[in-house]
Amino acid sequence: MKNTITLHDLSFEKFITKTNVQHAVNGVAVRLNEDYRGKCPVFLTVLNGAFLFSSELIKKFDHDCELSFIKVASYEGTQQSDEIHTVMGAEPSLKGRDVIVVEDIVDSGNTVETIIKILKDEEVASFTIATLLYKPEAYKKPYKIDYIGLEVPNDFVVGYGLDYNGLGRNLTSIYKLKESTMTNLVLFGPPGAGKGTQAEVLKEKYNLVHISTGDVFRYNIKNATELGTLAKSYIDKGQLVPDSVTIKMLNAEVEKNADAKGFIFDGFPRTEAQAEALAVLLASKNTGVSGMVALEVDDEVLVQRLLERGKTSGRADDADEAVIRNRIKVYYAETAILKGFYEKQDKYHGVDGVGTVSEITDRLSKVIDTL
Ligand code: AMP
Repeated sequence: MKNTITLHDLSFEKFITKTNVQHAVNGVAVRLNEDYRGKCPVFLTVLNGAFLFSSELIKKFDHDCELSFIKVASYEGTQQSDEIHTVMGAEPSLKGRDVIVVEDIVDSGNTVETIIKILKDEEVASFTIATLLYKPEAYKKPYKIDYIGLEVPNDFVVGYGLDYNGLGRNLTSIYKLKESTMTNLVLFGPPGAGKGTQAEVLKEKYNLVHISTGDVFRYNIKNATELGTLAKSYIDKGQLVPDSVTIKMLNAEVEKNADAKGFIFDGFPRTEAQAEALAVLLASKNTGVSGMVALEVDDEVLVQRLLERGKTSGRADDADEAVIRNRIKVYYAETAILKGFYEKQDKYHGVDGVGTVSEITDRLSKVIDTL
């Protein structure tokens, strides 16, 4: 079976092989056979995750036993929530029985705690907990976990009954979430805010790949490519190039730098559709936008800066005050809504964009160092 798999939007890497899972199941079965000799316990399987483990365990159990099932819910996505509710209770009554609770994984212990309360209310004769996986770093409860297949670190795992939003239960090995160490900055601000200047400094400082969509378009225009010809008509008027064109180009630029430690996106995203496309692209690499850092500069300062730059930059869209004002207008009409988009995710960081280059770099770095 493959070493890396994708479930929904996330990638997982193989963590415990099928053979090692089988060893773990056997180990628990051997101990249960010893400890429950002469008894007729009830295996209480915690659905849905433990069904695979319990079916194998029960087949290896040599004495009489009965089966029962209970269903509680706790996980949402990859985060465990503290609230646990019973979806389906154990039938028939467990009163006076020796119960073996079968769990797929014990992490915070919230589920175990809920089930122990239920067992005590039911007045069982005795109970033990058998789990395939146990996360000692995450476990916060005082109850003894009697039978442990394998101890695992505090990673999100799927396979062999465990799922990520419904998928992955049928995998015979266990996989863990691939962690990303990338830093991806969206450098934001109106035209002339100094994004390009700062990006040049920050890319060296943080070892990131700088992608300026404006620069890529200008390169294409200069080389008279098909993309350049298409983009030129929009750029000359200070309008945005259509999303479909820009997103395709951005994806290609990111793919060209598959080994990057992270990116500085300069001039992208400029619309909500672009922001959503960026989230999808980065999710496919198990990463996301670390933060949007926005340079805040007054409009009139921007116009003056751009007219000044126009004297030497050779950019037609910098030379004409009407085009400059249109670019600023487009920024506020179409682009500034992205502030709200990232604010909702707690990822927006505004920085004063007036001062010397190094003063502004210092302000940006203070934010970046916290991401
Ligand atoms: P810039 O160098 O970032 O000021 O971009 C110059 C011009 O390129 C803009 O005025 C747009 O016409 C075009 N452009 C750059 N990035 C984008 C983008 N993300 N979406 C649409 N058009 C863009």
